[in-house]
Amino acid sequence: MDKEQKLKKIKEEVLSCKRCLLHKERFENKFYPVIGEGNHRASIMFVGEAPGLNEAKTGRPFCGAAGKILDELLESVNIKREDVYITNILKDRPPKNRDPQPEEIKACAPYLERQIEAINPKIICPLGRYSMRFLMEKFELEDQLAEISRIHGKSFKINKFFYNFTLMPFYHPAVAAYNPNMKDILKEDFKVLKTLLEKILEEEKRHREEWESEKREMEDPFY
Ligand code: URA
Repeated sequence: MDKEQKLKKIKEEVLSCKRCLLHKERFENKFYPVIGEGNHRASIMFVGEAPGLNEAKTGRPFCGAAGKILDELLESVNIKREDVYITNILKDRPPKNRDPQPEEIKACAPYLERQIEAINPKIICPLGRYSMRFLMEKFELEDQLAEISRIHGKSFKINKFFYNFTLMPFYHPAVAAYNPNMKDILKEDFKVLKTLLEKILEEEKRHREEWESEKREMEDPFY
């Protein structure tokens, strides 16, 4: 299956998913599941916690107040929203925006894992402590797990199973809604993200050029 087929299959499965009780909320309120949105070839994937009311009404991630802050953060470092991929651990809205429950995370996370595998991003940024904890445990970084106040904006290299990416946790953008200090911290972390992205893209370009030149040499009959 190629990338597009894998993502389409995930979408179809989520649309009819009843793995946890949150699907009842969805049907009763005529909500949409929020599967994910963005570039299927993105270098950066953001992983929030769960859809809020605006998201559940539209089926789009981060399209409410927290989304406005995320847009502002992306803009502050010149990264376009259409160049990244945005999703959540939970695809359905928990009632009254309560915190995700362990059994809901357990039921829903396999979709996220398959999205990561299909998109294969170079950097994954959990937004908030739930997605940070889930991803760090999933990729065997428990020993480096700490309060988000201690590890936001830090890089964790992951090279396990078939995955190869850098994990960089951020505070959830909603924390900046009423706190300008938090927005400043988030903006500083986004600068670190941008520097990391440029470094990774530069390294890739160098590897590609080296490979092209090796190929040319091998094709040279006098080599
Ligand atoms: N908060 C999240 O964690 N995800 C969304 O999609 C919106 C708000």
